[in-house]
Amino acid sequence: MSTIDTLPPLRAVIAEHGLSAKKALGQNFLLDLNLTAKIARQAGDLSQCDVLEIGPGPGGLTRGLLAEGARKVLAVEKDARCLPALEQIAAAYPGRLEIVHGDALQLDPLAHLTPPIRIAANLPYNIGTELLVRWLTPAAWPPVWESLTLMFQREVADRIVAQPGSKAYGRLAILAQLRCDARIVMTLPPEAFTPPPKVASAVVHLTARAQPRFPADPAILSHVVATAFNQRRKMLRAALKPLSMDIEGLLVQAGIAPTERAEQIGLEDFCALARLLEAERRASSV
Ligand code: SAM
Repeated sequence: MSTIDTLPPLRAVIAEHGLSAKKALGQNFLLDLNLTAKIARQAGDLSQCDVLEIGPGPGGLTRGLLAEGARKVLAVEKDARCLPALEQIAAAYPGRLEIVHGDALQLDPLAHLTPPIRIAANLPYNIGTELLVRWLTPAAWPPVWESLTLMFQREVADRIVAQPGSKAYGRLAILAQLRCDARIVMTLPPEAFTPPPKVASAVVHLTARAQPRFPADPAILSHVVATAFNQRRKMLRAALKPLSMDIEGLLVQAGIAPTERAEQIGLEDFCALARLLEAERRASSV
């Protein structure tokens, strides 16, 4: 019998510890251990890695990650009611599960983990995008983590992998795809969760690239993309006017028709425009 089989079923764990789901904490639990094992497998070979899990809840995915052979799992949970259930898992996997009771937004996981690191989580929906943006914009690149395997609402997952020309395409797609290879690896209906959320969910797997896909100053690129998508219905020559006296000229130099709109422009072209704006700024500051 494997270790995972010695632990009680998750429904019993929920009943024993009174883990009625709290909406404010984004609690939609996965109670099917076959499903959590499947998600854990999407995270890749964990045997040589430490894994950061945000929001383990009663520990379904945590069990999957440990059973898949993670060297160590750091599980960060805000809800104190979940801690006894997690302690039970820690006892079944001696020395391999560290539990931190706290807010993932306040934690420095590097104080607890040794690279290589993978991140895997069924994220609380209210802080999911904020955490993703933080992981995608560390002080230095490549980051300490190798991959992210994250459950989001389907609509957010679609925005991460979106291509130009689609409604979902925007800042999140550009940020994610500049530095990662990103794909949706699973989709889940609301009924997969307890309680079921209102919308479908999806697991996105992001692998950190050694280098960003195209060169560009991250701050300038971020400003260009934010400015372009803030007025996504406008032609770029109007939307980007605040960025340069000669925005039409720069757009043409970057190979972009000034009459196009933000959602039609690929990552490579946005990066080319960011480089031209950087050069213009340098020239005007000498
Ligand atoms: N991983 C579990 C599962 O799949 O069944 C639970 C996932 S549930 C969607 C999100 C979890 O994140 C909840 O257990 C919730 O208490 C926890 N959580 C919410 N906000 C948090 C925060 N700021 N820091 C850490 N955990 C948080």
